Amino acid sequence: MAIDFTLSPDVEELRLRVHDFMEQVVKPGEAKLGSEDEIERSDYLKILFEMREQAKAAGLWLPHMPEEWGGMGLGHVEMAMVQAEAAKTYYGPWVMNCQAPDEGNMHTLLHWATDEQKEKYLRKLCEGYHMSCFAMTEPEVAGSDPTLIRTTAVLDGDEWVVNGHKWFISNARRASFAILIARTEDNPDLPQAANTGFIVDIPSEGWNRVREVETMHGGTGHSEIVIEDLRIPAENMLGERGSGHRLGQYRLGPARLAHCMRWIAQAETALDMMVDRSLSRYSHGSYLAEKQGIQWMIADSAMELYQAKLMVLHAAYKIDRKLDFTSEVSMAKHFVANSLNRIIDRSIQVHGALGYSTDTPLAHMYQHARWARFADGADEIHQMRIAQRTIAAYRDHGNPKVATGDLPI
Ligand SMILES: Cc1cc2nc3c(=O)[nH]c(=O)nc-3n(C[C@H](O)[C@H](O)[C@H](O)COP(=O)(O)OP(=O)(O)OC[C@H]3O[C@@H](n4cnc5c(N)ncnc54)[C@H](O)[C@@H]3O)c2cc1C
Repeated sequence: MAIDFTLSPDVEELRLRVHDFMEQVVKPGEAKLGSEDEIERSDYLKILFEMREQAKAAGLWLPHMPEEWGGMGLGHVEMAMVQAEAAKTYYGPWVMNCQAPDEGNMHTLLHWATDEQKEKYLRKLCEGYHMSCFAMTEPEVAGSDPTLIRTTAVLDGDEWVVNGHKWFISNARRASFAILIARTEDNPDLPQAANTGFIVDIPSEGWNRVREVETMHGGTGHSEIVIEDLRIPAENMLGERGSGHRLGQYRLGPARLAHCMRWIAQAETALDMMVDRSLSRYSHGSYLAEKQGIQWMIADSAMELYQAKLMVLHAAYKIDRKLDFTSEVSMAKHFVANSLNRIIDRSIQVHGALGYSTDTPLAHMYQHARWARFADGADEIHQMRIAQRTIAAYRDHGNPKVATGDLPI
């Protein structure tokens, strides 16, 4: 029997090291930070970057990157342990330099960039003093369908001239470069082959950050960008002409799963809090933990968390084995995003007014969790693809096995 869910001693030792680092360094650091508005910017950055230096010194740096890039060279299953520990704190993934969108951009550059591009752009992300962003979504057309992208890049000599409009570009205000997706092909054979990726230095003339989009979790760095006659040198094209869609998809596979790993940590925190509160809150002759209505919420959350972990581990296993992981990542992304929302919601319910207040982290977690259901592939897009693959599997094989995890049972 090859199925074994125990961690090898070195992975368990790593998981515990990450756990202890979060407890001993990141949680106390976060307590000093308070919120970005309450502390001088210079003090805020000093505390954050000191934590990064401590992570580097502790060997907890770039868990997703190969050792030759200064990383820990972990596989995706091992990453699941690391991310699920790190994301029990707010800044943990950032401190270890494995946060979105830089993590996905690092994977993208590692896979698609030329040696010169890697040296110039990937190197500085890995060193941890620069950040990046990924610019694809546009206000005028459905982000769910990148074949509709209107931002154009036209070759003029040895430069591309770009005009267009992007929004919700996370991290753009802090980034020193962007990976930009723009339309370069007029009539491609496949609609998916219309777009190309580019690396844009920030600041650049023609890259105009016009506002920060205020969201239900505040103004935390999602920018609207108007692009006017931006000139990009030809050597900054990323991958081949027309490969922008594939580049985006390649980026999104592991990046979506990394989100799931972090969401598991958040869901686990919400369930911990739900149980803890139910054991101390007394009403109508007994503790909440003794009420069947509350037990159902705890049971549903426990079952969902278990399913979420199994799905993420299996999808990570498939990526590590270089097996086709498209279906598994898609199902995991949909399931974990929805479970996260349900579990936090139940935890708020059990906390009553306290859960609605900002005295616990639940309200903040709930605001953040909502975007998980439509960003990086909306629920309905994943369901559409999952259904298409299930129907195709049934047509081709007479059963849906390959579209349902292709498991040996
Ligand atoms: C916090 C946050 C951070 C983000 N960061 C980035 C970033 O860094 N870079 C970037 O490029 N983008 C980013 N985005 C944008 C994100 O990727 C898009 O929101 C997402 O791709 C969906 O596109 P849209 O918002 O245009 O929704 P639309 O495509 O307009 O879809 C709206 C809704 O329509 C429905 N729908 C759409 N198509 C179908 C269909 N075929 N069948 C059934 N229903 C459908 C779904 O319910 C969907 O939620 C971010 C968004 C948020 C909220």
